[in-house]
Amino acid sequence: MLRSAERYLKVRLADPYPVVRLKPGRDRSLRQRHPWIFSGALADGDLECRPGETVAVHSSDGAFLAYAAWSPASQIRARAWTFDSRERIDGDFFARRVARAVATRAAMLDARHTGCRLVHGESDGLPGVVADRYADTIVLQLASAGADRWRAEIVAALVARTGAHCVYERSDVDVRKLEGLEPRACLAYGELREPVTFVEDELLYRVDVAHGQKTGFYLDQRTNRALVRQLAVGKDVLNTFAYTGGFTLAALAGGAKSVLSIDSSADALELARWNVLGNPALPSDRAEWKEADAFAELRKLRDRGVAFDLAILDPPKFAPTAAHAERASRAYKDVNLLALKLLRPGGLLATFSCSGGIDAALFRKIVAGAAQDAGADASVIGTFGAAADHPVALAFPEGEYLKGLLVRKA
Ligand code: SAH
Repeated sequence: MLRSAERYLKVRLADPYPVVRLKPGRDRSLRQRHPWIFSGALADGDLECRPGETVAVHSSDGAFLAYAAWSPASQIRARAWTFDSRERIDGDFFARRVARAVATRAAMLDARHTGCRLVHGESDGLPGVVADRYADTIVLQLASAGADRWRAEIVAALVARTGAHCVYERSDVDVRKLEGLEPRACLAYGELREPVTFVEDELLYRVDVAHGQKTGFYLDQRTNRALVRQLAVGKDVLNTFAYTGGFTLAALAGGAKSVLSIDSSADALELARWNVLGNPALPSDRAEWKEADAFAELRKLRDRGVAFDLAILDPPKFAPTAAHAERASRAYKDVNLLALKLLRPGGLLATFSCSGGIDAALFRKIVAGAAQDAGADASVIGTFGAAADHPVALAFPEGEYLKGLLVRKA
């Protein structure tokens, strides 16, 4: 009797969660701490688990590999929360992970900068969770079944760690469809006090957290905007895909002679204008705005013989995955070619790609092809990545989505 109770207890202690087993030889990436478990790697086929429920992932010979969130609708069938069998996935787990993520950003927030990414998904050990801070407002995005399951705990942990008065949820991203989740955009905690503003490099930005793109602002470009600010003095600047004017404000603050900002979104440009006017020290008379398709507008500028000293190209994600890479490559090449043609001799091009489907090596090739077709001698004089609040876990190279080159035309 006692023996069977002991045995029962042992089994319970070893497996606090339903077990899924991998096929033989499919445990390598998990052992390397890559957090994704694809459906094709599973030996057992389908498990009777609710979306987001915690499962224990075992190798084919029964060794513990990870506790993970089950996601029955997705090709990525489970995402690892932890590789430590002693941990339990509960409110305390999320409190610890959120605390760790917030603590690593402490040095990035001060009077000059009141915005930063607090949680960056897989690279912070929280797959599917993104949280951006704009002063006292946090914008949260939950993109996986596991993240969704623990919504209340994640919100509570963010509030406890930051004292934020508002958490606004912007889980209205396409990838949720792949997880079988409905889009959700609503208040998750507290009260949304609009306008939401924050400071980056002592510049005040207003953020449309309810309707803006992503969580409302591209915080990942913080350090790159700081470099543009240094480079802009005395220059005629072209800011293509300007959104709400991040690079526009940086260039004006850096002493640009003129800044032409192009974007196809009227709402984004309206906010960009507000952002310039909201900083009375900036020379708003040096800013010009154009609501247009960037490809068509750059062609028009070229045909009119307009020229610039510094061009910024920060297009949207043309290739979300590698499957889109070919078409996206053409779009990147076109727009880079046009921008290079618009540069005066000695001019600088700060060109970016935030496409997960295009890696840094391919991006460099595309830009090289564009320079060749533009008939320009050009050199790379710097490279860009995302700011430090967007870490890339070494075990998760997919996290490195933003890349950029600073190119000088001879
Ligand atoms: N550089 C910005 C972020 C750019 S996001 C920052 O630092 O904040 C990409 C922008 O490209 C969006 O504002 C979107 O409206 C715009 N966009 C997308 N397709 C476009 C096109 N064909 N022509 C012009 N703008 C476009």
